[in-house]
Parts: sequence; structure tokens; C-alpha cells
Amino acid sequence: MIPAPFGYERPTTVADAIRVLAENADEAKVIAGGHSLLPMMKLRFAQPAVLVDIGNIDELKGIETSGDRIVIGATTTHATVAGSALLAERVPLLAYAASQVGDPQVRHRGTIGGSLAHSDPAADFTAVMLALGASVRATGSSGEREISTDDLFVDLLTTSLEPDEILTSISVPALNGAGAAYEKHAHPASGYAVVGVAAVVKVEGGNFTSARIAVTGATSKATRATAAEQALVGKPANADTIAAAAAQAADGLELNGDVYASAEYRGQLIKVLAKRAITRAAGL
Ligand SMILES: Cc1cc2nc3c(=O)[nH]c(=O)nc-3n(C[C@H](O)[C@H](O)[C@H](O)COP(=O)(O)OP(=O)(O)OC[C@H]3O[C@@H](n4cnc5c(N)ncnc54)[C@H](O)[C@@H]3O)c2cc1C
Repeated sequence: MIPAPFGYERPTTVADAIRVLAENADEAKVIAGGHSLLPMMKLRFAQPAVLVDIGNIDELKGIETSGDRIVIGATTTHATVAGSALLAERVPLLAYAASQVGDPQVRHRGTIGGSLAHSDPAADFTAVMLALGASVRATGSSGEREISTDDLFVDLLTTSLEPDEILTSISVPALNGAGAAYEKHAHPASGYAVVGVAAVVKVEGGNFTSARIAVTGATSKATRATAAEQALVGKPANADTIAAAAAQAADGLELNGDVYASAEYRGQLIKVLAKRAITRAAGL
């Protein structure tokens, strides 16, 4: 399958990339690892007139600390995230989640920014970043802004990024004593989440004092399991509390059914994986 003809630009600065995007209004699209965009172009679901390849922009790569946060450049690959000693020490959940993406080829081409900007309903990092309370930085013709991941994922393959905006980095808060875990039932061929659940919980004085639980694979976009979060906070950190919270993890979610799994099956998987993820995150 061959994509429709397109122009190709390879800027070396974010400013130049934004200029090309703005000049081509809604006709241009950013390409990073190309692991979601190219298949869509080959199927002619996407037909951008111009591709703006951001792979040659050095300022978009890398992982560093900034105060008590970790900042990851948008074009950092999943393989780099998986192998990062800094992340292994400070936010091991990120390195683990990256190691669970697809296969080695996908991990060496796919980027963390591309994964969030694409808002694939079965992606891993969408749920993981929601649970971590991460935010992204976006730069466009009207300047720079910070977007909480709670506000980034709008719908199926749709984010709150403007067409001329580039997601430049992801900022992840320190865990500050919270525990974190991600559990995925992976599609055996692609590795995508049939369902995935990420949990970040804090236990103090024997009680859950904070909880962020996020689900991927089951709904049109990654989403928080707020009923389960509320069922944890203020309660004793034990198996009964976790079982009761996990039983509510699919409450209020509009579940998808498809050839891989029915909505009912996904609902059951959410409960099972939520229980495992919360238990691991709580260290029980
Ligand atoms: C066989 C296969 C298996 C996979 N398995 C998994 C899996 O198990 N788990 C998982 O989570 N993912 C999986 N993926 C997806 C992959 O991990 C990539 O992360 C994903 O394709 C998007 O990243 P990319 O850099 O390739 O983005 P691209 O394909 O280049 O872009 C995707 C979209 O995001 C936009 N975009 C990209 N970067 C930016 C940016 N910085 N700012 C603004 N917009 C941007 C593009 O315009 C495009 O619309 C798989 C992909 C394949 C092909």
C-alpha cells in the first residue's frame, strides 16, 4: 500500500518546524517515529500534503531532571526511556512501561511524544502518564503552554494540541513516596493493550492518602478510573480495600468491544488488572 504524494521538510529547530506547520495551515503534519502516522497514510486514513519530520531537532531529545520533576524530550524513543538509568532510579514505572511497548523495532523508532500526541486508545504511555499526573509542553505560533495530561486526551486519536503546535516535552512529577505499577493484557501480535491499568498510590500511616488510576485499551481514549480512586483514598491499605476499589474500576467507563475482546471482557479485565496494579503499587 502506497501513501498519497506528500512534501517533506526536515527542520533542525522547533521554531522552523512551527513556521512550516503554520505556513501549511491544516495541510501539514508532524512526523516523529512514523510508527502510527505512516500506517495511517498507507491506508489513506491520513493524507497530509506536507510532512514535518522533527527527528533532526536536537532540543526535542533527552531525559533530565528539573527540580523535583523529570523532563523527557518528545522525540526520545521508547528504547531510550526503557534503558534510562535516571528513570530506573526516579520513576521506574516509565522505564518498565516503555519496555512493554511493541517489539524492539517499534521501541527504537516510536517516540514518547508521538505516543501521547497520537492518543491511540490502546497505547501504554497515555494511561501511565495520566496515573503519574504528568503534563506536556506544547509550542506553536501563539507561544508555549503547559497541558496537563488530564486535559490532553480528548477522544479517539484526538488531543487538545492545535494543528500548528508541537509537543516538545513531557514533565513527570517525582513520586514523593508514592508507589507505581502498570499491568497490561497485551495483544499477542502487536503488543498494544487490549486493556492496561496504571496505578500510582501513596500509603501513609497505614491508609491510602492519594490514588491515581488510569485505564487504556478499553475506551476511546485513556481515562481515569475515578470511582476506584475515590474508593481507595482515606481507607486502610489492605487487600479488602483494594478488592472493593478494583471492583469499581470500570464504573462510568464507556467500554469498547471489537474483534479482539467484547466490552464485557474488557470490563472484567479492568477489574482484574486494577487489583494487580494497585496491590503492586501499594507494595502489598
Ligand atoms: C507493530 C506496532 C506495534 C506497536 N505496539 C505498541 C504497544 O504495544 N504499545 C504502545 O503504546 N504503542 C505501540 N505502538 C505505537 C508506537 O509505540 C509509537 O509510539 C506510536 O506509533 C507513535 O509514536 P511515533 O513517534 O511513531 O509517532 P508518529 O507515527 O510519527 O506520529 C503519530 C501522530 O502524532 C503526531 N505527533 C508525533 N509527534 C508529535 C509531536 N512531538 N508533537 C505533535 N504531534 C506529534 C503526528 O503528527 C501523528 O499524528 C506500536 C506500533 C506498531 C507499528
